[in-house]
Amino acid sequence: MRLKKLTFKGGVHPHEYKELAEDKAIEVMPAPELVIIPVQQHIGAPAEPVVAVGDEVKIGDVVCQAKGFVSVPSHATVSGTVKAIDPRPHPVGGKVLSIIIENDGKDEWSPDIAFDENYAELDADEMKKRILNAGLAGMGGATFPSHVKLSPPADKPIDTFILNGAECEPYLTADHRLMLEKTRDILEGVKIIMKILGCKNGYIAIENNKPDAVRAMRQAVKEMKMDAEVVSLPVKYPQGAEKQLIKAITNRKVPAGGLPMDVGCLVHNVGTAKAIFDAVSSKKPLIERVVTVTGLGINEPKNVLARIGTPFQNLIDFCGGLKENTIKIVNGGPMMGIAQYTLEVPVIKGTSGILALTEKETALRDPDPCIRCARCVDVCPMNLLPNEMARQIEYDNFEEAHKLGVLDCIECGSCSFVCPSRIRHVHLFKYAKLEITKSLKARA
Ligand code: SF4
Ligand code: SF4
Repeated sequence: MRLKKLTFKGGVHPHEYKELAEDKAIEVMPAPELVIIPVQQHIGAPAEPVVAVGDEVKIGDVVCQAKGFVSVPSHATVSGTVKAIDPRPHPVGGKVLSIIIENDGKDEWSPDIAFDENYAELDADEMKKRILNAGLAGMGGATFPSHVKLSPPADKPIDTFILNGAECEPYLTADHRLMLEKTRDILEGVKIIMKILGCKNGYIAIENNKPDAVRAMRQAVKEMKMDAEVVSLPVKYPQGAEKQLIKAITNRKVPAGGLPMDVGCLVHNVGTAKAIFDAVSSKKPLIERVVTVTGLGINEPKNVLARIGTPFQNLIDFCGGLKENTIKIVNGGPMMGIAQYTLEVPVIKGTSGILALTEKETALRDPDPCIRCARCVDVCPMNLLPNEMARQIEYDNFEEAHKLGVLDCIECGSCSFVCPSRIRHVHLFKYAKLEITKSLKARA
């Protein structure tokens, strides 16, 4: 296939700050004394607790079970005793029912987890079953259940799979390190995904600010004799957003309100591909992930392999603590991440980074009125009118914002990034989406 213009309309070029952690090899963090496992770590129905206070668990034991098709289970990430099941602060906001496990320090694993030499011969249904049982949800931050993504309806065949190694959010380097250090595991995951989907075209998409990862992937693809192409993309945010990635690589446009499957494509993040390999080859559940702990406010920026459920405070301590001038902690990247009010929140399946930001890195001034400069319109990768949508939402005119396409906003934050009046568009758009969804449900 001839690759054309490997980019998309709009987008921005924020300062990258990747140099803080990109050369730091992944460090394994000792398991904490206590883990907090929320029942909601994915898009869809919350999982249902299947343990009780006082129960003994081993690593990999299911502690909450999927409820419905669009849901995933979660597992014990330390061995020990269930100490409490109650609502705890969640990194995505509010409080969520969580299972608190006290670590007994024995690191005992569930006996079901073992390498299966014949995993590549399994049929697609068995592979998907293992992926569901492992509790996999998109690790790039979207947290959509992986088994659902891998089960498109019969009338939406997938012919193209794109491995998302763009990691376009500034600061984050977890995927970059994973591509360097677990190259073959990730590609084994790609093989599994392509087998499940029965698709022919495979692309590994990496922004060209990671030339070592591009080289490592090209070398491994060659050695493993894979029929996949490693594509080096120009650096532009939000290059790693699904719709923008599909447009850049295939020149196909996902329709408004549509999904990648509508144009025969599927995208998975590199961390998810590695987790898919672990799940299918060893029945290993998602009990840990790589988190970039970085920002000018952290003493020792690192890429850390941490157990799911580890409190942010423990990770920050592991990275030498905070500098005095830290004024903001963010879950995720600076463009789409969520500011935190407590460090008691745990790492969840979608936690790609923890940022400690100083005043230099943060715009804290209150918004001014819109000066109608249209910069936000120029950069919107979804061809929306952010200024007009924000104006309508400020007047609670959700119907008009709906007509303007606010539901298609991918919440990339590019509009806020360029806005000279520092208008908090994404905050307004999230609010409007909730209101519109509520009113659509009420009308249904
Ligand atoms: S960038 Fe900001 S000031 Fe300019 S039109 Fe958009 S909302 Fe208004
Ligand atoms: S309107 Fe949405 S999609 Fe467009 S730039 Fe703003 S946040 Fe991104």
